Amino acid sequence: MSTLVFLEAADDLGLQALTFARRLDPAVEVVAVGDAPQVSATVHVAEIDGYAPQAWARAIASLNPTTVIAAGTDRGNEVLAHAAVMLNGVFAANVIAADGDQVTRQRWGGSLLEQARVHGDVKLMTVAPHTVAIEEVAGDPTVETFTPPLEDADLVARVVERVETSTGGVSLADAPVVVSGGRGLGSAEGFAPLEELAGLLGGVVGCSRAVTMAGWRPHTDQVGQTGTKIAPDIYIPVGISGATQHMAGCKGAKKLLAINSDPEAPIMATADYAVIGDALEIVPAITAELRRVRA
Ligand SMILES: Cc1cc2nc3c(=O)[nH]c(=O)nc-3n(C[C@H](O)[C@H](O)[C@H](O)COP(=O)(O)OP(=O)(O)OC[C@H]3O[C@@H](n4cnc5c(N)ncnc54)[C@H](O)[C@@H]3O)c2cc1C
Repeated sequence: MSTLVFLEAADDLGLQALTFARRLDPAVEVVAVGDAPQVSATVHVAEIDGYAPQAWARAIASLNPTTVIAAGTDRGNEVLAHAAVMLNGVFAANVIAADGDQVTRQRWGGSLLEQARVHGDVKLMTVAPHTVAIEEVAGDPTVETFTPPLEDADLVARVVERVETSTGGVSLADAPVVVSGGRGLGSAEGFAPLEELAGLLGGVVGCSRAVTMAGWRPHTDQVGQTGTKIAPDIYIPVGISGATQHMAGCKGAKKLLAINSDPEAPIMATADYAVIGDALEIVPAITAELRRVRA
């Protein structure tokens, strides 16, 4: 086997990775765990219960690929790092282009592009999220189920329990509208108007790291390099300066409306629209206007 794509799911990031892989090798095959993703390819489905990064990597390694590609998600990066060790391969994360041994990849949350040469007989790459336009290929999967040769140590780190947070059914990563708050809101209570606005727009509330560090919101709400990567139709950062590490998480947003009291805030460089002023006045005013026009 030559090129293998590790697909967590046939979601946007998975299909971006598959598109990237097909451009390198049209005969690419897929490896998955649990449910077979509905894509037009030979899909090797490993029988493993739940998330166990080293066991998932063992499944990949047992197929003896020479190139492995996955989406640049937390899991994609974690699993491929383990697989690289097992295959004695070379791993490049957050790649946006590859040609032979040459790769171009994002560093520092996307603020730097690095061109590097990947030395080694086995190459592993994750694809930087939202850098590849999906090209669908019609057809059903040809599913081949297999049991990877797991060692006890492969299952030491695994998910044993899952506790869902209550977000009304829409996750931060998938929400079409995200209204995020930053230090500029001044307190945890400052998020109440954002909750109201997000609710009216059918969206969810996110935040910056300054907010999670202050304990105003849980880490699950954090957008950014060390938080969730989002790709909403519209992103509304409120009282957020636009630090590189924050912007790394919202690059996929189609439109950005910044609300900030500082017209010189770095976020203005990326904003499609901006409202300059006090968030605690502007957000309730937008909400009131939305209610008025919808009444
Ligand atoms: C390794 C590393 C990883 C990181 N990962 C992340 C990450 O994943 N996500 C992340 O967000 N950060 C991350 N950070 C932190 C990041 O560098 C910034 O410190 C953080 O994003 C700043 O948060 P903020 O914009 O809320 O606060 P600030 O930078 O303090 O900005 C506050 C903004 O609010 C505005 N403001 C003030 N009062 C008002 C008002 N009344 N109305 C309207 N606007 C107002 C100000 O003009 C300012 O622009 C990381 C840092 C490091 C070193």
